[in-house]
Amino acid sequence: PYDGPRAADILRKRSEFLSPSIGHLYKNPLNIVEGKKQYLFDEDGRRYLDAFGGIATVCCGHCHPEVIGATIEQIKRLQHTSTLYLHNAITDFAEALASKMPGNLKVVFFTNSGTEANELAMMIARLYTGCQDIISIRNSYHGNASATMAATAQKIWKFSSTQSGVHHALNPDQYRGIFGSNGEKYAKDVEEIIEFGTFGRVAGFMSESIQGVGGIMELAPGYLPAVYKTIREAGGLCIADEVQAGFARTGSHFWGFEAHGVVPDIVTMAKGIGNGTPIGALVTTPEIAKVLTRSNYFNTFGGNPVCTAAGHAVLKVLEKEKLQENAAVVGSYFKDRLKVLQEKHEIIGDVRGRGLMLGVELVTDRQEKTPAKAEILHALEMMKDMGVLVGKGGFYGNVFRITPPLCFTKEDTDFFIDVMDIALSKI
Ligand code: PMP
Repeated sequence: PYDGPRAADILRKRSEFLSPSIGHLYKNPLNIVEGKKQYLFDEDGRRYLDAFGGIATVCCGHCHPEVIGATIEQIKRLQHTSTLYLHNAITDFAEALASKMPGNLKVVFFTNSGTEANELAMMIARLYTGCQDIISIRNSYHGNASATMAATAQKIWKFSSTQSGVHHALNPDQYRGIFGSNGEKYAKDVEEIIEFGTFGRVAGFMSESIQGVGGIMELAPGYLPAVYKTIREAGGLCIADEVQAGFARTGSHFWGFEAHGVVPDIVTMAKGIGNGTPIGALVTTPEIAKVLTRSNYFNTFGGNPVCTAAGHAVLKVLEKEKLQENAAVVGSYFKDRLKVLQEKHEIIGDVRGRGLMLGVELVTDRQEKTPAKAEILHALEMMKDMGVLVGKGGFYGNVFRITPPLCFTKEDTDFFIDVMDIALSKI
């Protein structure tokens, strides 16, 4: 049993010594002290079904023995030198990652986070094209540093830092968007941004294939192929931010962009690739990668042997345990059950997503699509009390984000549905 500091003490210290910007989901934040597979345990040994997975990060399950084993083995032998020396953990993982990529995407840059990978992607696109303008989509989240915060397009994630060089295109939002599910119509906006807002050439376009922070928004079909064509005609590079949707999460494909039939010029990833170990990466073509030889790009911990050993172990576990297939099977069962729940509860306005990246949008009026902001907070608390942890997001903060570890089962799904059903019935 756990006999460490209790939630109240931690909370008191946190408010005194940590940034006041750190938020929490519940009125009384949980003190989570242990994790195993798709379960988390609090200070009293109470078990929770984890349907949020550390924000789409824990893909193999919490504390997977093979990932932990590979990490410990490496950390005991050699923790860090730098990429100035050789180490096989880095090259082996890079080779394995490249093998998961389509086309000529095979040169890997390791970073420490998704933000860093996206910052690098935007810089590479600007260097390669000699242009400054980058187009991202409204409602997206790409990171918290200068360029990525500019690309991020939700006011609650932005400060008054640099906004230059980024244009935000219409979100191909199939639920609230003006063109419904017609991706090509939304894509016209990118064409117009280039025509009216630039000199005709751009550095690139960056987007998630399913917006995570934005409330599990799947881009309307036909959108990405049309936009990629437009961007390439304007000399730009297409960047796929796979930080949340990548690494087997969507089930049908290993990468989210694959469901749209496109091949990006740059792919960025983080979160799931380390299953909890901080690591990010960017993959591009040999030709594009060359731009970084014009000067020196050095990253102290990017490509650290411990993190790359962990990442490589994650990839092996995903394959060995067929977790992508599981995400597909359990994910579609989950979505079907959510759709049935939608028929029962008027408050569920929309059910969407793919694999184990699912969203449930709550509205107080289905016609008006009025965001049920207070109701979702109430439901989250009730679900937590019944032993289920789930995320929240979306521009209006009214969407359940379901992104569990990929070892989630049908039985877990049944339990989740029962709990959500009870919570929504009580609202
Ligand atoms: N891109 C996407 C799609 C994300 O969801 C996030 C994190 N929420 C990031 C980039 C930034 O990643 P990090 O927090 O590791 O910097």
